[in-house]
Amino acid sequence: MTDAPGRSHGRMSIRASLQPRELMQDTPDLAGAWAARVITLFPEVFPGVLGASLTGKALQEGLWRLDTLDLRTFGVGRHRNVDDTPAGGGAGMVLRADVVGAALTQAARGTPRDAARWPVIYLSPRGKPFDQTMARRFSQTDGLTLLCGRFEGVDQRVLDHFEVEEVSLGDFVLTGGEIAAMALIDATVRLIPRVLGNEASAEEESFSRGLLEFPQYTRPAVWEGREIPDILLSGHHAKIADWRQAMAERLTQERRPDLWRAYRGSHDGDPDGDQEL
Ligand code: SAH
Repeated sequence: MTDAPGRSHGRMSIRASLQPRELMQDTPDLAGAWAARVITLFPEVFPGVLGASLTGKALQEGLWRLDTLDLRTFGVGRHRNVDDTPAGGGAGMVLRADVVGAALTQAARGTPRDAARWPVIYLSPRGKPFDQTMARRFSQTDGLTLLCGRFEGVDQRVLDHFEVEEVSLGDFVLTGGEIAAMALIDATVRLIPRVLGNEASAEEESFSRGLLEFPQYTRPAVWEGREIPDILLSGHHAKIADWRQAMAERLTQERRPDLWRAYRGSHDGDPDGDQEL
């Protein structure tokens, strides 16, 4: 677990453009805070949205760390080239194995060798789809190295050599891995103890219990002629919990038959989970 001790409070942890040379010093992270090391051609876009709100506050407080490695600095030749044309022909450019390899080697310095403690991830549409279970697993590591691709992607040999885990944000193609890395980091960091503030809220959220979340309401009590369901104003906590459970089940069944089948399978001793409600 990465429950950072209180002494990390007040430590400034935004290192949006950490140079490789600085990483080489292997300064141990005394607070033991969870860390993300991002390899990217665009270090300047970090921390971006991760610097806002709860994740930003937690970053400032040292509850997690963000380091970037600028892929360009590993480029070859006078122009620091990072890419070349695909072997076998075709459109676009491919990130070079030697360039990406040097960056991954640099990023590995001072990190645990054990992939369970420090996964090395390539954001890629070919990867395993990212989900809440994966976010929970990543939040229980010491940290992650995240490789952001660009152009047509990365030379396969470097992925094989470093036994990189490929993770996809979904079945669509982005221009680069940076947005996917940010999404992955955001979902992961908010599961680190104390980042979210009210920890109970993480347990009730969509996916945490295998269901989508129930509908939420707040003031005003009547808006555009629409009222808040009576039960939520009744003060009966048990009835409210029942109502929320029923709504979560209904929404999941309607919108996500895949999640619903899995949920029924794990809750009713019904292995194929095909029962109708
Ligand atoms: N030619 C590749 C796509 C390259 S897109 C293919 O067809 O599979 C350029 C980069 O954007 C990729 O290297 C990857 O890092 C990132 N990327 C694109 N779509 C992504 C997705 N769905 N999830 C995570 N990363 C993605």
